[in-house]
Amino acid sequence: MFNTDTINRFNDLDTPFYYYDLEVLRQTLTAARDASAKHGFHVHYAMKANFNPRVLDMIQSFGFGADCVSGNEVRAAIDRGFDKGKIVFAGVGKSDKEINLGLDTDIFCFNVESVQELNIIDGLAAAKGKKAKVAIRINPNVDAHTHHFITTGLDENKFGINIWQLPDVATALRQCKNLEFLGIHFHIGSQITDLEVYKNLCTRINEMQDWFEDHGFPVKVLNTGGGLGVDYYSPDGNIADFENYFQVFKNFLNVKPGQEVHFELGRALVAQSASLISRVLYVKNGLKKNFLVLDAGMTELMRPMLYQAYHQIENLSQNSKFKIQNPEPGNSQPAANIKYDVVGPICESTDCFQKDVEFPESFRGDLIAIRTAGAYGEVMASGYNLRDRVGSIYSE
Ligand SMILES: *Cc1c(COP(=O)(O)O)cnc(C)c1O
Repeated sequence: MFNTDTINRFNDLDTPFYYYDLEVLRQTLTAARDASAKHGFHVHYAMKANFNPRVLDMIQSFGFGADCVSGNEVRAAIDRGFDKGKIVFAGVGKSDKEINLGLDTDIFCFNVESVQELNIIDGLAAAKGKKAKVAIRINPNVDAHTHHFITTGLDENKFGINIWQLPDVATALRQCKNLEFLGIHFHIGSQITDLEVYKNLCTRINEMQDWFEDHGFPVKVLNTGGGLGVDYYSPDGNIADFENYFQVFKNFLNVKPGQEVHFELGRALVAQSASLISRVLYVKNGLKKNFLVLDAGMTELMRPMLYQAYHQIENLSQNSKFKIQNPEPGNSQPAANIKYDVVGPICESTDCFQKDVEFPESFRGDLIAIRTAGAYGEVMASGYNLRDRVGSIYSE
């Protein structure tokens, strides 16, 4: 991702910023599109992972739909040219204003997360003389085997409708004249790396679609959600395994004639395409710890502080100096490794990217790359401490 020219370009820029490698994004999107098209699957990009305009433009140009979780995301998807017939709208707390926006813009489907919400959407649609297309988001109680902060499909989670509430859903669907039932929706968590989890999800989806069909509701759409994980430990040239992911659904989902299978991938499409670039401000050597104090912190990338997430951290200046100054093979020993806690400048003790990182000795001004930051990175930036809004630059 970082050749000498790129690093030289960084040297002239103010930090921190997100660096987007659009070629990595293109390769990832191509792989996802080809692997899904093989089976006729529909992919909606989960916009909350990254709504940077350049990123959205490229994703839209690949023909993916959009999975939105707020009215503003629905609006942004339409503004960036996503086909409104390919926009789905999930969220456990949609406001009336947001539902009305979805109705006014004729989105493909509301993914509905409670019986109460079904009734509210029905009422708002009736007031407009419209029919709202809905899918029922079911909480299937399937363990995603991921960090408990990013699990969404267990009984203890707030998302979706629990299986024991389905009789109430059937009653509501029969009563609500301004709803059109499209199908069933699931999303059990994020950063899922064990494909066995998706096999279990398929089993549950098959049971659920039988339940709806048995109760007189034909299921046209099976939406399996997203959650496919990426490798945060080796970011280079490491695109998510879309082939095997989609193959699991091909093998284990019971797809009936005329049914559509939908996916909502976020992280796996964008994570590897960006890094957060920062500089070392200070090196603090303590009795117990050495600290590298960066000019980026939780206001630019919150995942380590929010979910104890791991990101690979690289010192670009020291690496590049060694490569440039010592090109002879026998002459390129790495600098002595020191252990650092890599921290940000924010006034919170949790503002730490990683503890005890083994690094070449680092100095004020060194450029630091925090990798695999394309998903849930820039979008979670905040103005806490009245920080400047983080910028972004692009490889092309
Ligand atoms: C966040 C989200 C996704 C995407 O999750 P990833 O882990 O980024 O793939 C898909 N569907 C819904 C409903 C979501 O909330």
